[in-house]
Amino acid sequence: MNRDPSVFETIQSFHVYRNGLPRELKVGFVPTMGALHPGHASLLKRSVLENDVTVLSIFINPTQFNDKSDFANYPKTWKKDFALAKECGVDIIITPTFAQLYPDNYRYQICESDFSKILCGKTRVGHFDGVLTVVMKLLNIVVPSKAYFGEKDFQQLQLIKEMVTSFFMPVQIISCPTLREHSGLAMSSRNSRLSAEGLVKAALIYDYSNKFKTVEEVEKNLVEVGFTIDYVEDYFGRRFVAAFLEGVRLIDNVANS
Ligand code: AMP
Repeated sequence: MNRDPSVFETIQSFHVYRNGLPRELKVGFVPTMGALHPGHASLLKRSVLENDVTVLSIFINPTQFNDKSDFANYPKTWKKDFALAKECGVDIIITPTFAQLYPDNYRYQICESDFSKILCGKTRVGHFDGVLTVVMKLLNIVVPSKAYFGEKDFQQLQLIKEMVTSFFMPVQIISCPTLREHSGLAMSSRNSRLSAEGLVKAALIYDYSNKFKTVEEVEKNLVEVGFTIDYVEDYFGRRFVAAFLEGVRLIDNVANS
């Protein structure tokens, strides 16, 4: 039975704890927005295996939401999250507030000017600026040896890797494979907003991405069963899809065979 993770609600109290850790201890870090599922658990378990201390952050970052209702409706499942974190062997959970993380009220931002403007960045204007800014802040607070991110958010993972290189940040970014339901649907906190029928249909994103040769065929077939397409595009030997179903925005990417 794992011990209860310690919860730090303020950055100041976490700093006191972090400064007291022996320098040689390896700290692993998994940033999330909560509503944890087995996909998050796979990152947490890997961190627990590879480090002495694992820190999980739960913060629904408003600066990365271009859609206010998406932010407002983002699922919050604190009790379940705590239980899953404990089950995975997480040592520390930090739950900072907006005021703590953004003392500048977002006057200072990390902006990438190229890769962040395509795929998800095209319609979600400012999304990756919000992501990169909060990840930079969290990495500077936690000071981990390794930080774990999922390939499900492939564009985000790539941008974070490049940010860390560009700013000479002393952290290793570890990419973790996408965990899927038996149906092939990529696990996501947003899936909980789908109906039972929607959950079955949502698996077609993965199915069609693999099955059809061209992006046009994927798009046409998804539209036929009721999806609204944001994009279907092939880049760097991968196929990327973003589509709405029942008002929920779903993303996925697969290696292009
Ligand atoms: P989120 O809470 O959605 O911001 O995700 C936190 C981290 O978990 C990100 O690095 C995601 O890429 C990762 N993640 C989310 N879903 C999955 C999944 N199905 N498989 C693997 N990693 C995931």
